[in-house]
Amino acid sequence: MSKKTIFQKIIDREIPAPLVYEDDLVAAFNDINPVAPTHILIVPKKVIPRVGEAVAEDQATLGALLLAAGKIADKLGVTARDKGFRLVINHGRDAGESVPHLHVHLLAGRRLEWPPG
Ligand code: 5GP
Repeated sequence: MSKKTIFQKIIDREIPAPLVYEDDLVAAFNDINPVAPTHILIVPKKVIPRVGEAVAEDQATLGALLLAAGKIADKLGVTARDKGFRLVINHGRDAGESVPHLHVHLLAGRRLEWPPG
């Protein structure tokens, strides 16, 4: 059996991290090293290493990640157009992926530059 990722250990409650959101398919918690005033990681409970390795049967899980992001953003009060938030998925070395368990970064609370670095 492959080694659990840090995110799987958080989901399995082996490592304490308060969940800011949870449903049947996904869980969300604060990033340990935030790069914005709000920096939340939304993670599927099923281990999908990275988005490019998702398969057709993961469609509901992939949708659940974005729906969860919208709900969390709404709860945070950042969905108004004069506020806003950004979702980021890093796949592979060139994108800066460091944890091989698919996750969506939700960033909010400051003006975010475009294009990203
Ligand atoms: P990636 O670079 O793979 O897109 O993002 C991984 C993220 O996981 C990074 O932003 C990093 O700060 C975060 N991270 C790494 N280890 C932990 C941890 O143990 N707990 C939490 N909450 N976040 C972590």
